[in-house]
Amino acid sequence: MQSNLWNVITSSARTTCLYQQRLPAALLQHRKYSTTHEADIVVIGSGPGGYVAAIKASQLGMKTVCIEKGATFGGTCLNVGCIPSKALLHNSHYYHMAHSGEFAKRGVLMDNVKLDLAKLMVTKETAVKGLTGGIAMLFKKNNIKSIHGHGTITGKNQVTTKKSDGSTEVVNAKNILIATGSEVTPFPGITIDEQTIVSSTGALSLAAIPKKLIVIGGGVIGLELGSVWKRLGSEVIAVEFLTSIGGVGIDMEVSKSFQKILEKQGLKFKLGTKVTGATKSGTTIKVNVEDVKSPDKKETLDCDVLLVCVGRRPYTENLGLENVGIEKDQRGRIPVNGKFQTVVPSIYAIGDCIHGPMLAHKAEDEGIVCVEGIKGGPVHIDYNCVPSVIYTHPEVGWVGKTEEDLKSEGVQYKIGKFPFMANSRAKTNNDADGFVKVLSDKNTDRILGTHIIGSAAGELINEAVLAQEYGASAEDVARVCHAHPTCSEALREAAVAAYFGKPINF
Ligand SMILES: Cc1cc2nc3c(=O)[nH]c(=O)nc-3n(C[C@H](O)[C@H](O)[C@H](O)COP(=O)(O)OP(=O)(O)OC[C@H]3O[C@@H](n4cnc5c(N)ncnc54)[C@H](O)[C@@H]3O)c2cc1C
Repeated sequence: MQSNLWNVITSSARTTCLYQQRLPAALLQHRKYSTTHEADIVVIGSGPGGYVAAIKASQLGMKTVCIEKGATFGGTCLNVGCIPSKALLHNSHYYHMAHSGEFAKRGVLMDNVKLDLAKLMVTKETAVKGLTGGIAMLFKKNNIKSIHGHGTITGKNQVTTKKSDGSTEVVNAKNILIATGSEVTPFPGITIDEQTIVSSTGALSLAAIPKKLIVIGGGVIGLELGSVWKRLGSEVIAVEFLTSIGGVGIDMEVSKSFQKILEKQGLKFKLGTKVTGATKSGTTIKVNVEDVKSPDKKETLDCDVLLVCVGRRPYTENLGLENVGIEKDQRGRIPVNGKFQTVVPSIYAIGDCIHGPMLAHKAEDEGIVCVEGIKGGPVHIDYNCVPSVIYTHPEVGWVGKTEEDLKSEGVQYKIGKFPFMANSRAKTNNDADGFVKVLSDKNTDRILGTHIIGSAAGELINEAVLAQEYGASAEDVARVCHAHPTCSEALREAAVAAYFGKPINF
């Protein structure tokens, strides 16, 4: 029995145990075991970048260790990001449909529609638990050793993890992959308590429906969470510094249409407006704002919950970058070359902690090609083909260039547009807000960008991504047979409009 146990302890652990056997008992109480592992790659962080990279590395035959400081795997995305926000968006949409009389309009009658907020939260937590637990199973299936604790780089080929019981585990690895992600960007002067002044994390778990919610920031996360609480009954005002909503990369025509639709749903916007501070007075939060162009125009807004949603910043706390001479750039990101390699050749970085859009699928793709590159494979990502989606209702999805990009780059382009109100499926579903807009090169017909606002935009955009990734022309998409009746026919029609000059059904 003892020899079996002995065999599962690594050689350095054995040394540590022998050493500790010789220590007086009193000293031993204060000493914690230190274990050492050897690996081909150690991944720090198990978000969508880190866990996917770990699985790929193991599938490619690398002995893989993944270190995670959180209680569960999955990082921001699974625990406090993509997954819980989509659970709330999905189920609050159902509630809104039932409560607002939308179902009744369709002949689905129900009396006395009520909201059980606690149950809605349990449904969200069940989704999170199922998916984070799924990663633990995938790690097991792929023979990945996981360590729970905070990992610090202690050498060019070494990461030391401090565990909650005070013990440490050292991993000596040929390669280190940093996938430590990002954290909420604080707002200077406003202290987040996650109760009434919340970040996105607190806004995913409010115990009661705010009467009035002010959201600082009209970007993707602010609009998604603002929509959730609006549907559940809050009055919602989004205060945005810019004069448009939807964040970086959205096409302005889509942004304007999106704003109108959300306003029709009752969301209010204060654009071109800067928040200068917020103070608590009893249960009320007073938010001071001023006009960006005319700072003399000041106003104080009241709310009972304030959501600070001004973006995220790379997270590299106590990572030990200084131990190996890695310097961050001015935005706190880890600089990497085309192979995701830092200035230390054995240390790589991917995901939210490096340059590029902070998106889960971007982190995943980087994780995969990075480890393929370590095994000698090609490393390439076309960032122009990374899609963005806002999961409101309707959804907004886009990939590639906007009209504004093409104008500023002096590219001659054609526009093909098709409204969902002329799409048979969207009409039949009585869910026809929005349109598809395809931008193609005037001379070559190559698709340069696709922008969709519509209830299925988050799914439809992937067809546009595939087309763009393979260098398709508008004619290519226009000539591909699409199933009828589907919303994807609107994408085809927009491509028809871009190539032939006009669509069939509009
Ligand atoms: C509310 C919200 C909604 C979002 N919705 C979407 C969406 O719909 N679609 C989308 O694409 N993106 C979305 N995002 C963004 C997405 O979550 C991130 O882009 C993505 O999680 C980044 O993945 P990552 O692997 O780089 O980092 P993360 O997911 O942040 O994971 C990093 C992990 O590293 C761990 N870690 C950090 N330092 C250490 C250390 N020293 N030792 C051990 N472990 C460490 C952290 O605990 C964490 O688990 C959303 C974000 C938020 C906040």
